[in-house]
Amino acid sequence: MKKSKGGISAGLLRQVSQLSFLAFAVVYFITYRPSPKVLLLPILAVMVITVIFRTGFCGWLCPLGTIFDLFRKISKTIGNLPLIKPLNRRYRKWIRGNRSWLNTVDKYAKFFKYVFLIWMVSAAFLIEGDQHDSLNLPLIFAIVIIASFLIDRAWCRYGCPLGALLGIVSKLSPTSVTRYEASCINCNLCTKACPLNIDVANERRVTSKDCNTCLECINICPVDEALKLTIRKTQIPRYIYGLIVVILFIAGLAIVAGPGQIFANL
Ligand code: SF4
Ligand code: SF4
Repeated sequence: MKKSKGGISAGLLRQVSQLSFLAFAVVYFITYRPSPKVLLLPILAVMVITVIFRTGFCGWLCPLGTIFDLFRKISKTIGNLPLIKPLNRRYRKWIRGNRSWLNTVDKYAKFFKYVFLIWMVSAAFLIEGDQHDSLNLPLIFAIVIIASFLIDRAWCRYGCPLGALLGIVSKLSPTSVTRYEASCINCNLCTKACPLNIDVANERRVTSKDCNTCLECINICPVDEALKLTIRKTQIPRYIYGLIVVILFIAGLAIVAGPGQIFANL
């Protein structure tokens, strides 16, 4: 059955959720200047969410994802300007013509975030003093920012150490995007829509560590029963998934630390 249109789209809800969290994070950091000790608490809450609901934090709350999505939107808008449009068309044609080897580069480049994660953990716990500077962070961030204008979620794909960690933890989660072959019409729209370049149309369950549970694949799927978000075999309506993630994050903070601690200038 074809999907009915109408109502607020899950994509719009996701953007509202991300932007609200970005605004909250900015106000929180400016007002309370939290210590690294306090920042460990949200990470713990996010871990618990990830074990149950996969990487909803990355897809629905992460302020960095929001910022880089914004960069991408700006670049798409610039790409549609009359003077830039022909150049942009040639760039997209080149991408289509070289998709095969670009996918291979993408696949291996995704491992960089694990290197970054290992470096961060070792910098925090093992290495002392000046050796922390062994990675050229300004250069890395400059590359990631430029890449974010050209590639969807480049930071999440290649650079984010938290995303790398949550991706590993998400392997424990019973939540996943599930494709039902009997209903699927093999239109490939889900694969094309995935900002993390996951071949959804050829998966039965998306269990990739790179999936950030943004649900763009489900949003775009034209068939009602073909692609669903499930916990084991039970469907979770995509409209309430984000709400669950947001509520759990806030509740997790309150349980782990208590509101008094989170909003204290430690
Ligand atoms: S597979 Fe679907 S939910 Fe996962 S990142 Fe891609 S579009 Fe988002
Ligand atoms: S978008 Fe839906 S119908 Fe099309 S290939 Fe993906 S799962 Fe199948």
